[in-house]
Amino acid sequence: RDDLRARGLVRRYGGLTAVEHVDMDVPSGQVTGLIGPNGAGKSTLFSLLTGVEQPDEGRVHLGRRDITKMRPDARSRRGLVQTFQVPSLFPSLTVADNLLVAAENRRRDYAGGLLGMGSRGRGNALGVVEEVLGSLGLEDIRGTVAGTLPTGALRLVEFARALCARPDVLLLDEPASGLDAAETEKLSVLVRRIADDGVAILLVDHDVDLVFRVVDRVYAMVGGRVVAEGAPETVRDDP
Ligand code: ADP
Ligand code: ADP
Repeated sequence: RDDLRARGLVRRYGGLTAVEHVDMDVPSGQVTGLIGPNGAGKSTLFSLLTGVEQPDEGRVHLGRRDITKMRPDARSRRGLVQTFQVPSLFPSLTVADNLLVAAENRRRDYAGGLLGMGSRGRGNALGVVEEVLGSLGLEDIRGTVAGTLPTGALRLVEFARALCARPDVLLLDEPASGLDAAETEKLSVLVRRIADDGVAILLVDHDVDLVFRVVDRVYAMVGGRVVAEGAPETVRDDP
C-alpha cells in the first residue's frame, strides 16, 4: 500500500507563514497524529495534504507518485481519502445508499482489498457496503435517511463512507468532535483496526488524550513549524 510523504511544505497567507518547511511521513499500518494549539497550522497542513490548498514550496508524494499538483478528487481516486469536520453525506439518501455512492466511486484500477475484497463491479460495491456496515455495527441504521441521524451516528457513517472508498491513506480531521466518551472509544478502536489492516492514517484532533491513546507517532506543530515528533511518550514529555 502507498504511504504519504510531505517534504519542505511552505504555505504563506500574505505576510503570515501558516506552514513553514514541514516534513511529514504517514506510513502504512500506522496511526500518525497531528496536534498543536489553535493557529498552529494544522488545518493548513491538512489542506496541503488533501489538495484543497497548494503549497508555495515543497512536495507531497503518495507512494512513488508526486501528487503536489493533483486536485482533491484525483487524489481520492488514487487512494488518499479524507473525512471532514462537517460530515459530507447526502442528507436525503439512506446510510446504505450513501455508502454505495462512495463504493462505486472507488478507483477503477483498484486491485487490493481493505476488508479482503478485490474484484470489481456493482455487485462488489454492494459487497463492500455490507462488509463495512457489518464491521462498524451499523446494520440497524442502514435504511435511515442520513439527514436525520444524530451526531455520533453521523460521524461513524462518515467514517464508514471513507472506508467504502478503500483508502491507502486515510486523513481524519477532528473525527471525534461532537462524540461522547463511548462513541469516541468506539471510533478509536476502529481507527486502530483500520491501521492494523495496513492503511496509513493521519489523525488531527483537538482531543489530545484521544490522539495520544491511538497513535504510533505524533507531530506537534506551533507557529507553522513541527516542534516535536516521535512516539507519544517522547512528545508528551517535551516542554
Ligand atoms: P490550526 O488549524 O492549527 O488552528 P490554521 O492552519 O487554521 O491553524 O491557521 C494557521 C495560521 O494561518 C493562523 O494564523 C490562521 O489565522 C492563518 N490562516 C489560515 N488560513 C488562512 C487564510 N485562508 N487566509 C489567511 N490566513 C489564514
Ligand atoms: P480549525 O483549526 O478548527 O480547523 P480554523 O478556525 O483554524 O479551524 O480555520 C477554519 C477555516 O478558516 C479554515 O479554512 C482556514 O483556512 C480559515 N481561516 C483561518 N484563519 C483565517 C484567517 N486569518 N483569514 C482567513 N481565513 C482563515
